[in-house]
Amino acid sequence: MAMHLQNHIDGRWADSVSGETFENTDPANGELIATVTRSRTADVDKAVEAARRAYDAWRLTPAPKRGEILYRAGEIMLARKEDLAREMTREMGKVVAEARGDVQEGIDMTYYIAGEGRRQFGDVVPAELPNKWAMSMRHPHGVVAAITPWNFPFAIPTWKLMPALICGNTVVFKPASYTPLLAVRLVQILEEAGLPKGVLNLVLGSGGDLGDHIVTHPGVDLISFTGSSDTGAHISELAGKLLKRVSCELGGKNAIVVMDDASVDLAVDGIVWSAFGTSGQRCTAASRVIAHRGVAMELIDKVVGRAKKMRMGHGPIAEHEGATVAAGGKIPRDGALAKGFFHEPTVLVDVKPNMRVAQEEIFGPVTAIIESASLDEAVKILNSTKYGLSCSLYTSNVNNAFRFMRDAECGLVYVNAGTIGAEIQLPFGGMKATGNGHREAGRAALDVYSEWKSIYVDYSGKLQRAQMDTSE
Ligand code: NDP
Repeated sequence: MAMHLQNHIDGRWADSVSGETFENTDPANGELIATVTRSRTADVDKAVEAARRAYDAWRLTPAPKRGEILYRAGEIMLARKEDLAREMTREMGKVVAEARGDVQEGIDMTYYIAGEGRRQFGDVVPAELPNKWAMSMRHPHGVVAAITPWNFPFAIPTWKLMPALICGNTVVFKPASYTPLLAVRLVQILEEAGLPKGVLNLVLGSGGDLGDHIVTHPGVDLISFTGSSDTGAHISELAGKLLKRVSCELGGKNAIVVMDDASVDLAVDGIVWSAFGTSGQRCTAASRVIAHRGVAMELIDKVVGRAKKMRMGHGPIAEHEGATVAAGGKIPRDGALAKGFFHEPTVLVDVKPNMRVAQEEIFGPVTAIIESASLDEAVKILNSTKYGLSCSLYTSNVNNAFRFMRDAECGLVYVNAGTIGAEIQLPFGGMKATGNGHREAGRAALDVYSEWKSIYVDYSGKLQRAQMDTSE
C-alpha cells in the first residue's frame, strides 16, 4: 500500500492547507510509492513563522549541545542505512550500492559537523593599542531556506541542514519533488534525535510554485540552493535585489584529461565510473574526456567496449553537429524497461570543444571524447566551458600533475582518479557558473551558515583611537 507523506511544521506532521496531493513514483517501473501533500505559499508562511519562533532558543542552546543532537542523528542513520538505501533506490533509481554511498556520505557529514559544535574556531589576534582585546566569532543568520535536488536525496540535504543547525540557524527545508520520501526520513531522524520543535520545518511541493515565495519571504535570511544553473540564476536575481544571502551549487561540465604517459587501463576505469556511475546524474560526472592524440585511439576502443557491455543513451543532438555515437544513444522502448526512465550508456567521438555536447551539461550517462595535442591544449579545452566544478588528470609525470593542479579552473581537482567521489572533510563546490563563490562541506561550510562578527574590548579605561594614537 502506498504511503502518504506530509509536511513537518512546528514539530507536527500535517497536510498542506490546500488538501491537494501529488504522486511519488518508482522511476524504474512507474509504481506508486506515496501520495505527497502539495504545499502552497500559506504552508511556507507557517513554516517560516515556526522557524522564526524557534530561532532564539536554538541560537542560545550551547553549540556542543546542538552537536550532541547531531551525533545522535548520525547513530540513527547508521542503524537505518540499509533501509534508507533501499527506499532511495526505489524513489530515485540509483543502484543500491550507490544509494548506500549516498546515505554514508550523509552519516559522514553529520558526524563531521557534529564535531563543529565544539570547534567553530574564531581568531584572537593582538590589538594595536594597549589594554585592548581583539577577536572574531561566528553568528548565525537566522532562518535558512534549504532547497535541494533529487540526485543525492539524502547526502545533499545533510550538507545544508547540519552546518545550518550547528551554527544556530533554524531551517525551512524544501526537497525535490522527485524525492520527498528521503526528505521525510531525514526529518524523522533529526526529530527522534531530539531536535526541538520548529527548528527544522519541512515543506513538500513544487519548486516552481513555492520557490519565489520562499526566496523573497522577509522571514528567510539565507537561501542555500543546489540544482540547475537556470534555477540558481533566477534565485540569485530575486535574492540579490533584496540583498539576501544566497549560496548556490549548480551544474558542471566536468572533464577527465588523459595524457600519453598515463596508464590507459586506470584511466578507462576512472572514465567508466565517472561518466556512467549514478547514470551520469552527478554534478561531478565526467561528461567530457580530453584524450592526448597518442592514446586517443586505444582509449576510445576501450571506453566504447566497456560502455557496450553495460546494461543500459542519447545521441541525436550531438549527431546533428557532426559527432559520432560510438556506443549507446538509445532509450529502450519495449520489454521490462519501457515503463521506466532508462538511457543506454553513450560514448560520443569526433567531438569538437565548441559543440553543444562539449559545452552544456547533459546530466545523463553520456560522455564526449575530444582529442588534444598537449597538456596546454587540454587545459585550454578543460577551461573553455562556463562551468568549473570537477576535473581530473591521468598522468605519470609529476610536472604535468602540478601544472594541472595550478591551472585547472575547477573547485575539485583529481590526479589519477575520476571526477567523482569527493570526501566531506574538504570544501565542495565550483568556480565560474557552477556557483556564486561559496563552498559546501569541510570547514568552509560554516562560512555559508554564519556571519563573522569582529569584537574589540578596550579595558584601558580611557578613550583610545585606533590608527591615530600611538602606544608610547
Ligand atoms: P532543479 O534546479 O530543477 O531543481 C532543484 C531544486 O530546486 C528542486 O527542489 C526544485 O523543486 C527546486 N526548484 C525548481 N524551480 C524552482 C524555482 N523557480 N525556485 C526555487 N526552487 C526551484 O535541478 P535538478 O533537480 O534537475 O537537479 C539537477 C541539477 O543540480 C544539475 O544541474 C546538477 O549539476 C545540479 N547539482 C549540483 C550539485 C553541486 O553541488 N554543484 C550537486 C548536485 C546537483 P522541484 O523538484 O519541486 O521542481
